[in-house]
Amino acid sequence: MAGSSTAQRPLVGVLALQGDFREHLAVLNGLGAEAIPVKRPEELERINGLVIPGGESSVMDKLSRMFGLAEPLKAAISSGMPVYGTCAGLIMLADTVLDAIDGQQTLGGFDLVVRRNAFGSQLDSFETDLDVPVLGDPPVHAVFIRAPIVEAVGEKATALAALADGRVVAVEQGNLVGTSFHPEITGETRFHEYFLAKVRSA
Ligand code: GLN
Repeated sequence: MAGSSTAQRPLVGVLALQGDFREHLAVLNGLGAEAIPVKRPEELERINGLVIPGGESSVMDKLSRMFGLAEPLKAAISSGMPVYGTCAGLIMLADTVLDAIDGQQTLGGFDLVVRRNAFGSQLDSFETDLDVPVLGDPPVHAVFIRAPIVEAVGEKATALAALADGRVVAVEQGNLVGTSFHPEITGETRFHEYFLAKVRSA
């Protein structure tokens, strides 16, 4: 694909094995990208960036290995393809996961320690406004659903936002972006725009 058309209308994928990939496709198309669902290695070869949606990371892990996508995904991440992971997608990107199920693996690449289901059963879901300095005003209205938190931000990664108690819930590392929460369900488009800016300049 020619560089100029990529800059105007980038072709991006949303991993569509499981989870809320349709919402991400809608947001990305609404922002002027051409967004396609990705289920096969061939689809991965065509795209210039990828969103890994929320859902259930242990299932996404199993399906990605079963469908032969895990290795091509790891290769794409290490080659520098822009990738944005939300919630389960953030777990998939993390180098280390705590409270994983037996045998659960991640794609890795993001220098983070992430804890699954970090808010416990009493507080499965909640909403809050988050200050995200790289996105400016207004604050991001963030919806957390059985969400992970970032327990440790490694040397290569940077925190983009934290809860009032200091726990990190948005991160960046080069072409990787991750959020514990779900901007795709609240009409918040700035994280997707932030990701698309990386795609356009990659
Ligand atoms: N609890 C889920 C997991 O462990 C993530 C939830 C979500 O993506 N909303 O993968």
